[in-house]
Amino acid sequence: MNCFKHGPAPAVGLCKTCFRAVCPECAVDVGNGLACKGACEAKVLELNEMWDRSAKIYGIGAYKSRMPSTGVLLWLLLSLVMWGTAAVSYFLKDEIDTASIVTAVIFTIALGLVYWSSRRTGLKC
Ligand SMILES: [Zn+2]
Ligand SMILES: [Zn+2]
Repeated sequence: MNCFKHGPAPAVGLCKTCFRAVCPECAVDVGNGLACKGACEAKVLELNEMWDRSAKIYGIGAYKSRMPSTGVLLWLLLSLVMWGTAAVSYFLKDEIDTASIVTAVIFTIALGLVYWSSRRTGLKC
């Protein structure tokens, strides 16, 4: 395999971005691979930064977060909304909103189940 720019020069590896063979003269070590000097170098660094950032957001690898899973948060939100609705009709309208309370209880039970199973399996969904 020869360098895509300098025909006879033997390549040392492939660029991470364009996958062309590069010789030591054209290649830049970007930490986790090679890139074409100038052309792909900036792009690879950008990509690395993006990957790093999304790893932080999604809690992948080293950035694995201690946050509860999305399912737990969803049920927590739903039950809070239902308890809120029940409280509002109790305190403001002075009536007991049975439907909201029953829904709130069901959502809270669901929250407990989801939380328990996510703790048990350690799965993030
Ligand atoms: Zn390249
Ligand atoms: Zn070259």
